[in-house]
Amino acid sequence: MIPAPFDYHAPGSLAEAIGLLQQHGDDAKVLSGGQSLLPLLKLRLASAAHLVDIGRIPGLDYIKEEGGYLKIGGRTRESALERSEVIKAKYPILHDTALVIADPLVRNRATVGGNLAHADPANDHPATMLALGAEVVAAGAGGERVIPITQFFTGIFSTALRPGEILVEIRIPAPPPRSGGAYVKLERKVGDFATAGVAVQITLDDAGACKDAGIGLTNVGMTPIKATKTEAFLAGKSFDQATINQAAEIAASESQPMDDIRGSADYKRDLVRVLTARAVTRALERAKGAA
Ligand SMILES: Cc1cc2nc3c(=O)[nH]c(=O)nc-3n(C[C@H](O)[C@H](O)[C@H](O)COP(=O)(O)OP(=O)(O)OC[C@H]3O[C@@H](n4cnc5c(N)ncnc54)[C@H](O)[C@@H]3O)c2cc1C
Repeated sequence: MIPAPFDYHAPGSLAEAIGLLQQHGDDAKVLSGGQSLLPLLKLRLASAAHLVDIGRIPGLDYIKEEGGYLKIGGRTRESALERSEVIKAKYPILHDTALVIADPLVRNRATVGGNLAHADPANDHPATMLALGAEVVAAGAGGERVIPITQFFTGIFSTALRPGEILVEIRIPAPPPRSGGAYVKLERKVGDFATAGVAVQITLDDAGACKDAGIGLTNVGMTPIKATKTEAFLAGKSFDQATINQAAEIAASESQPMDDIRGSADYKRDLVRVLTARAVTRALERAKGAA
């Protein structure tokens, strides 16, 4: 439970942090809330000779609506999402997600940027961000670049972030009118990672049919999964029960779970079916409420 020795750096600016990451290369890691990294270091499943703590850099902790986007600073804590009135009123899918991540102690330190950058397929925000069509802003020595979330998760615990880059912002396109979303997760006990989770964001057309659907799946594959076949199936359809059930079957077929301590692959596939139907139904209620 004692990590290998490391040098701790506490830069006061983004430029300084990027400089340190560049200087130390593969020997350095970004430290944000520490809720995933520190357990890994203590268990000696990861090591780093240099930890670059981005917690003292001003201007990375915010939730704001700007230029047609919801913008979340990379250092914004889960507890801030939980308490934000904008999130509660306009992005209930994010509120659902924050509320089921770990426990209040962890949420007081864990950051949304860290949740994505860690790229654990068991983490909850990746599916939500896939459903919402988010973008990630990465800052490095060459300036900033924007990465669509669909290109961000490149493998288990790996992302499109380049060495020396810091995730500084998450951008979510403001949902059009008649939109609603929901995140539904089954956990064995409060605070556990998902046995499976499903994020659904839908927009209705004037007739109440599906104009657009975004669907993300948690912990049923080596990476978070964007359920593109289910999304395509729902486009243009009315949300009768038969359609919802069929969408849920398709989502289950898009999952790629494995047997583990949380259940068999068959059980988890069926869970995706059940959770998808629930998430679509809740998203639909919210979209109608937002009309
Ligand atoms: C008891 C417990 C229960 C948990 N349960 C859940 C759960 O139910 N659902 C869930 O989703 N998560 C859960 N987690 C995991 C944890 O909450 C998330 O992974 C967390 O959000 C990570 O954020 P952090 O700021 O703590 O990241 P850190 O631990 O500081 O960093 C994690 C990784 O991301 C990198 N990183 C962090 N921030 C950045 C950045 N801005 N730019 C570039 N790289 C960065 C780090 O270098 C490191 O590799 C749990 C953790 C604990 C300890």
